[in-house]
Amino acid sequence: MAEWLEGNITGKRHWSQELYSLQIDAPLPDFTAGQYIKVALEVDGERVGRPYSLVNAPDERPLEIYFNEIPEGPLTPKLSYLEVGDRVWVSDKASGVFTLDNVVSRRHLWMLATGTALGVYLSMLKTAVPWERFERVILVHGARNAGELAYGETIAEIQAAHEDAFTFITALTRDSSETALQGRITNLLEQGSLQAAADAEITPDDSHLMLCGNSAMIKDVRAWLEARGMQRHKRHEPGHYTTEQYH
Ligand SMILES: Cc1cc2nc3c(=O)[nH]c(=O)nc-3n(C[C@H](O)[C@H](O)[C@H](O)COP(=O)(O)OP(=O)(O)OC[C@H]3O[C@@H](n4cnc5c(N)ncnc54)[C@H](O)[C@@H]3O)c2cc1C
Repeated sequence: MAEWLEGNITGKRHWSQELYSLQIDAPLPDFTAGQYIKVALEVDGERVGRPYSLVNAPDERPLEIYFNEIPEGPLTPKLSYLEVGDRVWVSDKASGVFTLDNVVSRRHLWMLATGTALGVYLSMLKTAVPWERFERVILVHGARNAGELAYGETIAEIQAAHEDAFTFITALTRDSSETALQGRITNLLEQGSLQAAADAEITPDDSHLMLCGNSAMIKDVRAWLEARGMQRHKRHEPGHYTTEQYH
């Protein structure tokens, strides 16, 4: 059973109609970039908690989560209602193995995100680790429309700090933009458009991929990778990709 810490909302950002970030002051012990905490509220007399990846780097406080409101969900409509000064519950430790400790060092690290899964990679990219271990890091963010491309300032800072070692690619499914690719991540991989945009191939020798977000993207990309001889990474059997499924 998770023990709960009391947290206070210290910041809130409403990115678009259903996208929010919350900053939370809570005495969480050390964590590794890529891990998640549970955040909970009392809903109809019951404590309802859900996992959220931390967006802040391990040496940054306050804690930060990035989520989208699911109108029929029990927790997110209440979370999106919170304001600075309100109380939330936070699990007393972070969990999860979707971290760079479980990624094989190769030339290129690909980080594929749909929707709010972008946040987990920002925590990692704000640390020194990926830049010490990979020649290039390619972050791909798939969203429905341009209004859902959050954290532009943070990404610009990462770009400025790492220049040619960092490539950021956006892919929109229901919108077009001069700076984004158009289509689902899987289709763009199949067409070779992602690889062309990154000017890098995805090969077993060169690449490790992290996949995070919705189950359809993860399932389809896994199938594409496995058809090319790339396997899920296991602790005792080094592979080529790792996954974290949000829904
Ligand atoms: C390890 C882990 C980490 C996670 N980290 C994040 C995170 O950083 N940010 C985040 O937004 N979510 C994250 N999630 C999902 C999150 O825990 C909740 O499921 C989500 O916020 C909805 O909560 P809810 O109580 O309102 O609805 P729920 O009862 O949890 O879900 C209601 C319905 O919405 C679907 N759903 C859940 N999440 C989404 C989504 N993001 N988009 C569309 N449909 C969804 C569910 O599959 C379900 O059918 C994570 C999940 C896991 C397992």
